Amino acid sequence: MKTYKIATIPGDGIGKEVVPAGREVMEALTTAGAGLRFEFENFGWGGDYYRQHGMMMPEDGLDALRGKDAILFGSAGDNQIPDHITLWGLRLKICQGFDQYANVRPTRILPGIDGPLKRCAAEDLNWIIVRENSEGEYSGVGGRVHQGHPIEAATDVSMMTRVGVERILRFAFKLAQSRPRKLLTVITKSNAQRHAMVMWDEVALQVSKDFPDVTWDKELVDAATARMVNRPKTLDTIVATNLHADILSDLAAALAGSLGIAPTGNIDPERRYPSMFEPIHGSAFDIMGRGLANPVGTFWSVVMLLEHLGEQQAAQRVMSAIEAVTANPALHTRDLGGTATTAEVTKAVCDQLAAGRQAEAA
Ligand code: NAD
Ligand code: MN
Repeated sequence: MKTYKIATIPGDGIGKEVVPAGREVMEALTTAGAGLRFEFENFGWGGDYYRQHGMMMPEDGLDALRGKDAILFGSAGDNQIPDHITLWGLRLKICQGFDQYANVRPTRILPGIDGPLKRCAAEDLNWIIVRENSEGEYSGVGGRVHQGHPIEAATDVSMMTRVGVERILRFAFKLAQSRPRKLLTVITKSNAQRHAMVMWDEVALQVSKDFPDVTWDKELVDAATARMVNRPKTLDTIVATNLHADILSDLAAALAGSLGIAPTGNIDPERRYPSMFEPIHGSAFDIMGRGLANPVGTFWSVVMLLEHLGEQQAAQRVMSAIEAVTANPALHTRDLGGTATTAEVTKAVCDQLAAGRQAEAA
């Protein structure tokens, strides 16, 4: 039986609830006879680790992850520690350390979910957002001078390299090519950002020549928000810079019904390093520790993890189990207007996987 080494990093807040739930579902998959098993190693990094050691993860933490087949991550963010410390000290340290330059975010309205777009049929919204995940506006380049004085100045410089731009656009064109509609929208802001974004547009045009079967267009990021709401069906694969896609993908998650459902993969397409899968939501301080967290975003992230490992059939089984569960309003958590707990939803998905096995045996 195929065995995969999986690192789990729950992190902070509801990450500590949804990651163990994700692990339960993966174990249920093995029990259900999917023909694969997982060796888990858990890493208790995050805010609590910071309070003890003054850092979010150990200096040599990446070495402990290097030999894993994939990472399942929860959230970095603690209500007693500034967000830029928790984010840069853990999640970005892993994403950048392992050059996970493609952040992939599928969005669909799952069965039984009531999305806010009343003029749109559920099947009209089926997107996959590709976010540049290694440079751009979140390069961390910049500084502050004259701190605390009236003449204080601060910069965050957006760094775009031709290599960085080309590899993410190529990834997006390839992904678009693999989907039935072969449709790509390149998000830009080259009217106002007249240097790097103009290069971005030029590289898009250049890369597009290698994908003659992909239909593509360009959209300014502000106009893109309106298009997502008013004409969702005109979009399929979407590629954008680090900052632009960060914002667009939260909008996408909300349009699909809840932030608690949306998954993401931080992917090293060259497979030099393990890739990392996580729900897109954060620590959710307002609900943490109360069993209210929706674990579906984590389960869908498990689906992406399995797809990345090449386990398409297992991935499909988990996705079908998720959809069977969302279709039942009695199994909706509070963010979806229901009363189900994290544990109830998790059990229902595990039961669904087990039932799938019985159906096969019968
Ligand atoms: P958040 O995603 O934590 O919460 C936003 C809102 O959505 C809250 O009302 C929350 O209750 C709700 N929500 C989120 N996930 C949910 C789920 N699974 N089920 C039910 N409801 C859910 O965003 P925030 O409040 O902006 O950030 C809180 C902390 O998380 C901050 O420290 C932030 O930096 C961090 N954060 C981390 C990541 C990450 O590690 N990838 C992502 C976003 C935010
Ligand atoms: Mn975000």
